[in-house]
Amino acid sequence: MQPAVTRALIGIDIGGTKTLGVALSDTGEVLGKIWEPTRAGVDIASHAVEMYHALREQVTGSGVTISSLGIGIAGLVDVGGRLHRAPNLVDADGLEICQLVEPEVDVPVHVDNDVNCAALAEIESGAAVGAPNALLVTLGTGIGGALIVEGGVHRGAFGMAGEPGHMVIEPNGLLCACGMKGCWEAYGSATGLRNLAIRRAKDGDLEEISDAIQGDFEQIRSEDVTRTANQGDEQSLAVVDEFARWVALGLANCAALLDPELIIVGGGLTSDWHLFGQKVEDSFRELLVASGQRSLIPVKPAENGEEAGALGACLLGRTS
Ligand SMILES: [Zn+2]
Repeated sequence: MQPAVTRALIGIDIGGTKTLGVALSDTGEVLGKIWEPTRAGVDIASHAVEMYHALREQVTGSGVTISSLGIGIAGLVDVGGRLHRAPNLVDADGLEICQLVEPEVDVPVHVDNDVNCAALAEIESGAAVGAPNALLVTLGTGIGGALIVEGGVHRGAFGMAGEPGHMVIEPNGLLCACGMKGCWEAYGSATGLRNLAIRRAKDGDLEEISDAIQGDFEQIRSEDVTRTANQGDEQSLAVVDEFARWVALGLANCAALLDPELIIVGGGLTSDWHLFGQKVEDSFRELLVASGQRSLIPVKPAENGEEAGALGACLLGRTS
């Protein structure tokens, strides 16, 4: 008698530094997982192919059939799977990911933005369960976003919706990695926290951090600020408070446009949510238009952690 054949989906999340591949059974069980450093340029595509075959090898021995490959990637991706702009990946702008990968694998390939993928994971099993109209914002090196509309991810006319990091919130403000000035991302991401800390240190503030680096302000990292804030340093806590207000300002702008029932905050900075989450919520209420007259919009952290992008990439094959 033949063993029961189980279907599985493979998802690969290509981030700025790490690439994670996951094989997920159709009952939601993680069957295999691979973490590796992200490669550069066209090697991103060959790496995805290699990882697909390695995961396939891992799971097919047990009678599992792979039905699709989903790829989430940190950049602007169109509906045809072309990566237009990826500021955090090396030499990857313009890569035709889908065209490069599909001939090398034996299943359909779906490509989307990494945060859109993370949103699929939150919808399936996370913070967006029971909240079909929500906004996911990720605070990491930059700011990513995904619009959860009527239980699905809204991709816009060309697949590039949900990029709030480059809304300009301070004309002629701090320089952003995209080349513009005053983008939300230059204030409300890990890069933003660093920017705010450098600005304060140059003004003679943040003495503990400044002393440790002997005044070489460019050495300041966002982790220095969160570490000293966690130790109770008042000046670092003040920077974190300022940072939280900038995060809240961007969220209030997003909410004015979208009227979500919930805002989910993901990304690496959520590990320090205890430092700034309450401040973000309080400032968000203060800054949101008519917040006293409208339904409360909770702001809460995402639930799928750093595997969200790969898990959601698996689901691309199921939902498209
Ligand atoms: Zn920008």
